[in-house]
Amino acid sequence: MTISLAYHVAHTKCRVQGIVLGVVRVSSQLATISSIPLEDEIHAGQKDGIVPSFPLDLKPGRPSPLGSTALGAMMLRFKLGCADEQDLFNLYSAVGLALKQETTFEMRGHQMGGDEVLFGRAGLLSAMLEIKKEASHTQQGQSDGPGAEISRKIAEFANNAIPKLTRTIVQAGKEGGDKMLKSAADPGSACPISWPWIDSYYSLGAMHGITGILAVLLDPQISTLDGEIREYYSDIADSISALCRVCLETNGNLPASIPPWPSDSTRSSPLVQICHGTPSLLLLLAAAALNVDFSQQFYKSEWIDAIYSGAQRVWENGILSKGGSLCHGIAGNAWPLLMLHDCFEYGFIPLKSFDGCSEEVKATFLKEKRSTGDWLLSRAVVMLQECSSTRPFGTDEKYRMPDHPYSLFEGLAGTLCAWTEAILALLARIDRLDAFERGELDFPKSSAEDVKAKFVGSLRARRGFPGIGIDFSCYEV
Ligand SMILES: [Zn+2]
Repeated sequence: MTISLAYHVAHTKCRVQGIVLGVVRVSSQLATISSIPLEDEIHAGQKDGIVPSFPLDLKPGRPSPLGSTALGAMMLRFKLGCADEQDLFNLYSAVGLALKQETTFEMRGHQMGGDEVLFGRAGLLSAMLEIKKEASHTQQGQSDGPGAEISRKIAEFANNAIPKLTRTIVQAGKEGGDKMLKSAADPGSACPISWPWIDSYYSLGAMHGITGILAVLLDPQISTLDGEIREYYSDIADSISALCRVCLETNGNLPASIPPWPSDSTRSSPLVQICHGTPSLLLLLAAAALNVDFSQQFYKSEWIDAIYSGAQRVWENGILSKGGSLCHGIAGNAWPLLMLHDCFEYGFIPLKSFDGCSEEVKATFLKEKRSTGDWLLSRAVVMLQECSSTRPFGTDEKYRMPDHPYSLFEGLAGTLCAWTEAILALLARIDRLDAFERGELDFPKSSAEDVKAKFVGSLRARRGFPGIGIDFSCYEV
């Protein structure tokens, strides 16, 4: 019923694409675990032309579908199987422009970076990865419906574009890292790979800065198309270590930027939200674990210490009066905890990486010679439950009404996506308890692989944070 509500609101509110995108992904996820009949409503929406295609509307340095009506519509229409020639043309043009654009561009007298997830090239790369993932799904289902030919062309183009976009973003990051190191007051906090945000500031947040861009670059699908990215894994790991040191030195907080953004000096406490703040580092540390090649080689005790310290900060300061939104709200703060729960619970972080952790961290995350995500899951669920008190879903006046109350990033559609991911995580845990009681699993004898194999259905139905996502094939065993 809640999902139907969000869908009908889509007819009357702005930011329609985000809302429908939320409903489409929730619908496909729920289809894996129940027979909730949402498909008909979605196809009715398609016939109504709720998502028309648009001429390309890109501003300089802004090729991400998250900030573009035309590309956002293209993504949604691709998912709905009704992409057309205009969508294909928009995609060709957007990738062409992105590959040609400089690392920075001028806007209102400032030099702005062009690689962030929200508006920049990493957002476009993430969309290409999403297309690749979706296309492999469709191939398995052998779709031949209307728009199938265009969809195939879009998927083929995305496969070709992914290595080119990756190299361009990495190159910009290497140049940014060199500059950051030269200008850093503390070389220990400099990241060897980094991207300018505004003038001489380097954003650390997931929507505007390094944590989001690195999370996209760590998608394992990239290395399957072009192994060159692995040459930069060492620089990426050193950058993650630098961010973790900053987090540990500031009691679990991650500043919005290096150097500190001027408004930080007037703020009574640092921001704790996914666009700027510690939740973005936690999301990156989850993405780093879910890339098995990378985590086996590079995951460090210091990173796990940073998870513990950062997650405490999110738990204590992450219930925001801004409400339940993904971008700067409670659902977005809870989501990385949920992702990290998987990383610990299903053995994505190598056990040897815990050796150098503090005793407190080991006591929290290790149980009977295996890692456990209980501490993280319990906090994520409580935070997600609190979202039901926030407006427009709830009425608690201590939370303000979001600017776009039903949208994907600021409103109820995004909160629904977070709730759905939590349902899938909890179902896998409940199934596991049942299997344990039936004697099909035996702790501590059953390995993390045994556990994963049992619940791969619920786990693979996860879609990840919108705009950053995860490659759920990592859940295969
Ligand atoms: Zn935000």
